[in-house]
Amino acid sequence: MYDSIIIGTGPAGLSAALNLKTYKKDFIWFGSKNLSDKVQKAEKITNYPGFPEISGQELFLRFEEHIKAAGLSITEKTVTNIMSTGKSFMVLADNEMYETKTLILCMGVMSAKQLDREDELLGKRLSYCATCDGMFYKDKKIAVICNDKKYEHEVEYLADLAAEVLYFPTFNDSQIELSNVKISKDMPVGLIGESFVEGIVLRSGKTESVDGVFCLRNAIAPSKLMPQLEIENGHIVVDRAQQTKIPGCFAAGDCTGRPYQYTKAVGEGNVAAHSCIQFLANMQG
Ligand SMILES: Cc1cc2nc3c(=O)[nH]c(=O)nc-3n(C[C@H](O)[C@H](O)[C@H](O)COP(=O)(O)OP(=O)(O)OC[C@H]3O[C@@H](n4cnc5c(N)ncnc54)[C@H](O)[C@@H]3O)c2cc1C
Repeated sequence: MYDSIIIGTGPAGLSAALNLKTYKKDFIWFGSKNLSDKVQKAEKITNYPGFPEISGQELFLRFEEHIKAAGLSITEKTVTNIMSTGKSFMVLADNEMYETKTLILCMGVMSAKQLDREDELLGKRLSYCATCDGMFYKDKKIAVICNDKKYEHEVEYLADLAAEVLYFPTFNDSQIELSNVKISKDMPVGLIGESFVEGIVLRSGKTESVDGVFCLRNAIAPSKLMPQLEIENGHIVVDRAQQTKIPGCFAAGDCTGRPYQYTKAVGEGNVAAHSCIQFLANMQG
């Protein structure tokens, strides 16, 4: 049982992690060692106090230095589900379950567009997790949509099980060359099926019958991750303490709303960590 779990390694997650570390909390920090695409890709940042002009790449290196100096470690896993038991939270990350007293959600906002009917059909032969659900598709035909090259080992894993894989990478330099994998740039836009997925609709209007669909993305909409969260216009509703509607669950950064900016993310990460520390103190009585 951890004191806390932080999800997301952007500026909000880093700020929360630095504060939990200072207060010697026992926590695990899920995300990526590349921290955040939104940091690395910024060409020129001019609104971060202390740096009149800095590139995203330089800021990333500064963040890396800070992580090292503070002795923080990142667990490179994607969280695919969170359940609240009332007294604690169960967090599923790459098919392993973790239990925690509190949560700090710093997942940013999703840029990937959802498929039409994704909400209805999630869990009905539509999965976000290859290692959790891959074995159900032995010798079947599946579609896999992948928005990050780092998940291509999962595509290989699925191809090892399935008879046929229709593969839709959203990037250009896919490394996959397997006889049962057919790569297509005609991206899926929707799902077909009544009580479970039976096929996909492609951008061109064509359809393909499949036994299942995997969406391997580096972010998952908060409403899918934890359906009990209150969401407004795609953002997690929080109060001024960054507390969500679920006691012990805090959120910070872009996932709580605009403006989408580093300093807002860093500030909210700090507040969320302090609220979390206070919550843990109250728990102990
Ligand atoms: C090109 C570009 C330029 C920008 N320039 C500026 C600028 O000049 N000034 C400025 O203030 N802002 C700028 N921004 C906005 C800024 O990048 C964001 O506001 C900021 O990164 C938000 O931080 P965050 O921590 O909330 O989320 P993010 O930086 O998006 O980080 C979220 C992290 O969580 C991870 N994650 C998500 N879901 C999961 C999950 N289920 N499991 C594990 N990890 C997960 C993601 O992979 C990501 O690493 C720019 C953005 C872009 C794209």
